[in-house]
Amino acid sequence: MNSIFEDAQKRLVEVFKHIELTDDVREKLKHPKLSLCVSIPLRMDNGRLKVFTGYRVQFDDTRGPTKGGIRYHPDVSLDEVTSLSFWMTIKCAVMNLPFGGAKGGVSVNPKELSRLELERLSRGYIREIADIIGPKRDIPAPDVYTNATVMGWMADEYAQIKRQQLPGVITGKPVHLNGSLGRDTATGRGALHVLQQWVERNDLRADKMTLAVQGFGNAGYHFSRLAHAAGFKVMAVSDSQGAIFSEEGLDPQKVMNHKEKHKDLRTMLYCDGSVCDLQRYKKLTGHELLGLDVDVLVLAALENQVDKDNVDHIKARHILEIANGPVTSEADVLLEKRGVTVLPDVLANAGGVTVSYFEWVQNIAGFYWDANKVNSRLEKTMVREAKSVFDLSHDKKISLRTAAYLQGVKRIAGAITQQGTHEYFQNE
Ligand code: GLU
Repeated sequence: MNSIFEDAQKRLVEVFKHIELTDDVREKLKHPKLSLCVSIPLRMDNGRLKVFTGYRVQFDDTRGPTKGGIRYHPDVSLDEVTSLSFWMTIKCAVMNLPFGGAKGGVSVNPKELSRLELERLSRGYIREIADIIGPKRDIPAPDVYTNATVMGWMADEYAQIKRQQLPGVITGKPVHLNGSLGRDTATGRGALHVLQQWVERNDLRADKMTLAVQGFGNAGYHFSRLAHAAGFKVMAVSDSQGAIFSEEGLDPQKVMNHKEKHKDLRTMLYCDGSVCDLQRYKKLTGHELLGLDVDVLVLAALENQVDKDNVDHIKARHILEIANGPVTSEADVLLEKRGVTVLPDVLANAGGVTVSYFEWVQNIAGFYWDANKVNSRLEKTMVREAKSVFDLSHDKKISLRTAAYLQGVKRIAGAITQQGTHEYFQNE
């Protein structure tokens, strides 16, 4: 398989065509600042010892402490974590948050662990990386298959190591453990603000638009629920097991209630009373969901879902990237040629890290906001940065992805050049 990081870097080639940059910036954006690979010994419930591999990569901290989630997934690798840390660097700059980018992960299938094993693994991971994180240095958060509970254990472990309460070391914590209201819904909510801005700008109508959502985790679920409430018709949703479709549109809340009860979306087909009485569902494969003829295909699962091999199968007019890196750079070019609009990850899924920023601010101030304040600040930030990306794309006649990167790279380049560059020191 090709390197995800190499593919991620390819996007910069196009971006660099539209901005005057010194070589210092290009050089700096090629290399992660710090990559840590750790072995985490875990005492399993049956008494045996198993060792898991974990990573934390801090890509660039020129604009502030590094920020980014931790994922638990069997496919986690150094290459993947490095790419994700690079995307976080761009994302924080696109949103003008005072952070650099980082990412972490453990190569593990969390579904195979008991809750106690998961807690021990989470604490063990923090013990291994404790020396390089901190509220003023590197601030983790949730990502794929980690959640608020996991963040709570991690913050507690860090407090025990440092012998003081430092809640700003990690965001996405439970609300009663110094988390922020609104952090759990922030990624989905932020993505909806970006989509709504696009809809408004192009004189489209939400109540006439259909969606298919790949991925029904935290972000995909909250997005679907809020989009449904805002009038969009959610035709299909999928999780790692399969997909369901309804001609009349689904109610994402009911789908989630079912999923929580049965741990599987597919069983909705044969399902019990209340849910199935109301609607009829059709079973689809994940591949079929990607090819649905809808207005917006929402990618809220993992990276590399649309690539050069399946891009022709896509019929949607728009792609909303809630996952990180779900469309490869090759597929991107082909989609652009076909006139498919991609609302890019570094903007569309940035609601999560934006409210993480608010959580960090609240932790440091020791003063907590109500949900209205969090949600209205989130909306303001998403709308401001989305509008500016859309304007840049329009003015320069470039894709939304290139425009978003351009916006981020400009800010990173500003920070790097203001520290002094080749030209500055040579003319001395
Ligand atoms: N994991 C999320 C992301 O990819 C959130 C990161 C954060 O809140 O720091 O944006």
